[in-house]
Amino acid sequence: MSKMSFSYGLSLFFMSVIPGAWRRTAAGAGLLASDGTVAPTIFAEMSAAAARTGAINLGQGFPDEDGPAEVLEAARSAIANGANQYPPGRGIPDLLEAISAHQHRFYGLDVDPASEVIVTAGATEALTATLLALIDGPEDEVVVFEPYYDSYAAAVALAGARLRTVPLRAPDFQPDLEQLAASVTDRTRIILINDPHNPTGAVFGRGVLEEVVRLAEKHDAIIVTDEVYEHLAFDSPHTPIATLPGAAERTLTISSAGKTFSTTGWKIGWVHGPAALITAVLTVKQYLTYVNGSAFQPAIAVGLRMDDSYFTGAAAVLARKHEILGDGLRAAGFTVHAPQGGYFTVADATALGGADAAAFCRALPERAGVVAIPLTAFVSESNRHEYSGLVRFAACKRVDVLEEAAVRLARFSV
Ligand code: PMP
Ligand code: GLN
Repeated sequence: MSKMSFSYGLSLFFMSVIPGAWRRTAAGAGLLASDGTVAPTIFAEMSAAAARTGAINLGQGFPDEDGPAEVLEAARSAIANGANQYPPGRGIPDLLEAISAHQHRFYGLDVDPASEVIVTAGATEALTATLLALIDGPEDEVVVFEPYYDSYAAAVALAGARLRTVPLRAPDFQPDLEQLAASVTDRTRIILINDPHNPTGAVFGRGVLEEVVRLAEKHDAIIVTDEVYEHLAFDSPHTPIATLPGAAERTLTISSAGKTFSTTGWKIGWVHGPAALITAVLTVKQYLTYVNGSAFQPAIAVGLRMDDSYFTGAAAVLARKHEILGDGLRAAGFTVHAPQGGYFTVADATALGGADAAAFCRALPERAGVVAIPLTAFVSESNRHEYSGLVRFAACKRVDVLEEAAVRLARFSV
């Protein structure tokens, strides 16, 4: 079979195996390629472009330096000591206890390790299992801030619910509270937030968090909060929404060890909240992955018990990297929206001829030797025009890599 007819055959194959309901909701969420197949994620596509061209990869958010030596060593010794078979379904007791102690140490939250927390295959599985567990039917709505992390729309589509978006606009990317209030109704099953926020770098003000809680109470919705960048907030310590009055009893809090310990490939995440909700999530999770990461779980327990100085140090190092990246982007002619937290800096490329950031980012690896991601990749199709000149750059890379990227972008811009 020739290459062309093979790929044509392959797409027909996908068309026939992707069932109608998922295909329709995925198409509505803009997740399908023009031939009807599920498109690769923007992160996979851009990392492939970096590998192909040798460009510096400031696209996909993963660190290029190892995390703490004691955490890595703990995983090695767990393997050596035989932690190589299925762990318990909820996670190993040592890690469940470490997560509970961590939530108490940093935020004063009380989490029962036996009934109110489970370990998942990264935050991604926690989020997908939560949506699959809690969505009741096609009339249910999930309210999210937009732009949003790419798996949100996919998981909402998988769960068969409707996505309702509230825009975050430059320069501060805080939501308009009236728009937020107008978007939450009695059809809202879940208000899904991500704080600190990927891709914008926003940290939501207390007023925003209070309004989310007020609306969730008023409309009897569940709050799902993705706090994977909890230890990477730069201006003030992170405030989990579950600590606000009235929130804990209706909130599922999701996090991941990937960002905190630079172990994104280990895929150790967790979700905690009221026991009844956690039981519902567990019923789904056990048929997604069943369990994961037997040798990584004890290692992350070691990490979560590290001194406060590790956590504050990680935030300070990343804040400095954002400054270096931001200086380089400004020198190259971008307008920079400095982040308050997380891995990413967003910059406006309009002055550099990047009014169409998607086209700009497609050309950037060849033209400048740098990979970045257009914000339109995090936005529903109908709202893409609002974010058309904005580009996301990952700062979680070595300082010399960021400096070299700045040199390349400055050279390209003249
Ligand atoms: N949520 C957000 C906001 C993220 O940026 C990421 C990715 N890095 C994830 C979830 C996924 O986390 P994990 O790799 O633990 O599944
Ligand atoms: N969270 C990472 C990012 O936003 C990517 C993770 C992934 O590739 N799924 O870049």
